[in-house]
Amino acid sequence: MEMKPFEETVYLSSPTMHGDEIKYIQEAYDTNWMSTIGANINEAEKMICQKVGCADAVALSAGTAALHLAIKLAGERLYGQARVGHGTLEGHKVFCSDMTFDATVNPIAYEGGEAVFIDTEYDTWNMNPKALEKAFEIYPEVRLVVIAHLYGTPGKMDEIRAICDKHRALIVEDAAESLGATYKGQQTGVLGDYGIISFNGNKIITGSAGGMFLTNNLEDAHKVRKWSTQAREDAPWYQHEELGYNYRMSNVVAGVVRGQIPYLEEHISQKKAIYERYKEGFKDLPVTMNPFDDKNSEPNFWLSCILIDKDAMCKQVRGEKDALYASEPGKSCPTEILDAISRLNAQGRPIWKPMHMQPVYRMNPFITESGNGRARSNAYINEGAVPDVGMDIFERGLCLPSDNKMTKEQQDVIIEAVKRCFV
Ligand SMILES: *Cc1c(COP(=O)(O)O)cnc(C)c1O
Repeated sequence: MEMKPFEETVYLSSPTMHGDEIKYIQEAYDTNWMSTIGANINEAEKMICQKVGCADAVALSAGTAALHLAIKLAGERLYGQARVGHGTLEGHKVFCSDMTFDATVNPIAYEGGEAVFIDTEYDTWNMNPKALEKAFEIYPEVRLVVIAHLYGTPGKMDEIRAICDKHRALIVEDAAESLGATYKGQQTGVLGDYGIISFNGNKIITGSAGGMFLTNNLEDAHKVRKWSTQAREDAPWYQHEELGYNYRMSNVVAGVVRGQIPYLEEHISQKKAIYERYKEGFKDLPVTMNPFDDKNSEPNFWLSCILIDKDAMCKQVRGEKDALYASEPGKSCPTEILDAISRLNAQGRPIWKPMHMQPVYRMNPFITESGNGRARSNAYINEGAVPDVGMDIFERGLCLPSDNKMTKEQQDVIIEAVKRCFV
């Protein structure tokens, strides 16, 4: 029997407002600080510093802008200032998470660098330290690693830090999805040399847009603040010695961020409850939840995901832009489950398609635990050989509706719909 769709859409992850946000927006309006200067920006920066435990935070227009400036800062430190019209990473390779949102990777290209994608590990769905080690064997000259904490789950930072220290490489930490998650008691975003968070509309807390650069180095903070406001020098006129950007956060957006920050913990505990209800609901199904290292880390549970056991996968074929599957008793696949969720008027999503499989990055190197992963990926496409870890998780995994406003009853219906896919 067909299940009745929800009257209102159950989202993957949507903004959850609490009332204080409008108060601070109103304050910006009433005081006429309707620009990229104002009390909301200053307060939001201070509050985030306190929350994550860093010396300074710079409020920017987006997480992507924060990543761009973090990566540019790393590029300058490593290779010196670039001539205008040239990126700081030109002629240089940068190691980067492979299974992530493209915003993690694109700023490397903005700065003229070449991303080398590092395969994923099953333990946390983040960068595999063994593959990173392998990448340094192949490209010992690399000095920069960009790592994302996927879906709010911290990666293996100690292992990655040790490898980077050994090779004198800097770390840019993309904590866009993981604000509030901790690794060995420390917040993500301050575990690397440069860190960033995002306040995009679907993140754990939001400003409707926005992001922040996080640092313990006040000089770095000063530089990012300056770059983000068109790189004006301290002079009576517009004096420019460096290339600038218009990346500063608006004081109106900062009002939303300021209003949201006190609710971070509440959102995390709601997301955690959602994760645990899914886990319980699926205990008899051939699936596992997105995993984390429960000894060393506490995720923020931004998105709940499942991975279908290999022997419980029905046939599924994905082209560049479409997907087909053949239903089988006792088996299912992400495409079938995402269809079922969508018929309920709820939102699921495929796992981030690995960057090495994206047409835009088709020429970039890709390294797995055993070396050059390109050879293996091509064999997988052409001959159906074992895929790399990232492609395997992409093939068998999916993100479930994880909105913190989803009711228990709605979640029960979603759990039932997923169960029926395996009947
Ligand atoms: C959302 C996100 C970003 C980008 O943040 P924006 O604020 O949307 O620019 C970067 N990296 C990851 C992993 C993200 O999920």
